Amino acid sequence: MAVSISHLGYRKLSRVIFGWQAADRTSLLALFILMEVASHWLWCLVVWWRQDVYAPYVNVTLLYPLWIGVTLMGAYSFWMVSRLSPIRKDNDALHQWQAILVTLYSTYIAVVIVVMGHSSLVAGVSLVGGAMLAMMLVQRRYVWRAFLGHAAVILAVTLLPYFGVTLPNLRQMSISSFPLGTYSYLTYSEMTAIENAVSAAALQKGALSWDSLSQLRYSSAFFWRATHIYMALPKAIFIIYIFRALLSILDESKKETLQHANQDELTQLNSRRYGLTQMKQALKSVDNQQDFSVILLDLDWFKDINDNYGHDVGDLVLAEVAQTLRQFFTDEAIVSRYGGEEFLIVLPDTKHDSAMLIAEQLRRSIAEQVITADDDITFRVTASLGLYTLTHGARSCIKQAHATLVQKEAESELNQSQKVKLRPNKRGARKILTAQLPQDICQRLISTADKALYEAKGRGRNQVVSANAMLAEEDVGRRKKQCGGTL
Ligand code: GH3
Ligand code: MG
Ligand code: MG
Repeated sequence: MAVSISHLGYRKLSRVIFGWQAADRTSLLALFILMEVASHWLWCLVVWWRQDVYAPYVNVTLLYPLWIGVTLMGAYSFWMVSRLSPIRKDNDALHQWQAILVTLYSTYIAVVIVVMGHSSLVAGVSLVGGAMLAMMLVQRRYVWRAFLGHAAVILAVTLLPYFGVTLPNLRQMSISSFPLGTYSYLTYSEMTAIENAVSAAALQKGALSWDSLSQLRYSSAFFWRATHIYMALPKAIFIIYIFRALLSILDESKKETLQHANQDELTQLNSRRYGLTQMKQALKSVDNQQDFSVILLDLDWFKDINDNYGHDVGDLVLAEVAQTLRQFFTDEAIVSRYGGEEFLIVLPDTKHDSAMLIAEQLRRSIAEQVITADDDITFRVTASLGLYTLTHGARSCIKQAHATLVQKEAESELNQSQKVKLRPNKRGARKILTAQLPQDICQRLISTADKALYEAKGRGRNQVVSANAMLAEEDVGRRKKQCGGTL
């Protein structure tokens, strides 16, 4: 494990940490623990050093055993992080060491909470935050067990005083200095009441004056609240830091997964699924006056390229043709790899004649492209294209026909429910309102373009055939009546 200063950026850190081996992550948890324990050790040192100020509200006789415990825990965590760490030496026993580390730490922190007074701040951060942090770094089941044990200890500590059990508590309150000028030891609930009174006095009229602040600074309430914040804050910062790192990892992996799902690896074009999704969206958002064109492109004699030059050269050809497609079209066009050597191009808001011109230019560009493989082999490929344009007139006709169909369906549903004396449902009405284009319209557009592509192959390849022209030739009269021909 190498933690350098450049790893402190959380994006970098996240990539580093989550790429680490389990042993290194365990060492990192031990390092976090060591840092926290070191802060406790410093706290003990300051209290011992300034006994003149703190002795009235810290039970110094209890401070020494606590300090020894903190030192032992610090030594243990240091050993876990150091070069001699068994975590790194003995990978087989890693899980055992993880369990020991988590158990010791949660026992330690529970004791600290008990002895320092169970502030809800420290308890909450330790319980929830500590568990979250540890779950990201070591085996989750150990952390889960420790979490339950820890929660049980805190519950017990909270309830035990009600049964007359007095727990050793480092916190003692002297009220010699503020506010009464006498000296006595108090129970936890008395202490809390006085703390609240002190805070209320300091915050008279909602404002903290300098006078009350300086009095408060030397009060037990202030000292213990400051201590609890000191105990909780570094850990809370660590946890948020790690959590942010984890979220940034999730964001990145989501982006990566989406890219894998939406992009074809070989050609870097849209995948078939994503191309179809985009086509559906584009079709939904075209204007009432806009035509919608679809081109299906298939490379000619592609199998021969594979057979003659090998599969790798075939792949190279696909990548090069895809590059041509990317350069040829603007962002408005939706270009995707539809199958092996078949590409789907959707041109929203493009009339038939313009689409034919575009398709013809594309065919020429591909035919003129010289492909070089292995430096010495050069050849050209050609493509056949089938095109279909769904005019806005045909589209509104299909929409109308579809809406009538949906209405009939809804009416029959309505009749059915009336027959069996059910409350007429609103689904039918909603269906009519939402009826736009039939769900499978994209597939039908593509299969119409595919018929034109088949025709282009039949006519000798390396050409563009319009499905609209084919349909018009087939039966002009029938198309006029049925609005949309074979569609
Ligand atoms: P046609 O002019 O009639 O389209 O003839 P063709 O040889 O191009 O047609 P066919 O569909 O018979 O052959 C397509 C070939 O494309 C078959 C398959 O081996 C190849 N192919 C499909 N996907 C890939 C790929 O990702 N890489 C390579 N190298 N070849 C592929
Ligand atoms: Mg082909
Ligand atoms: Mg093919």
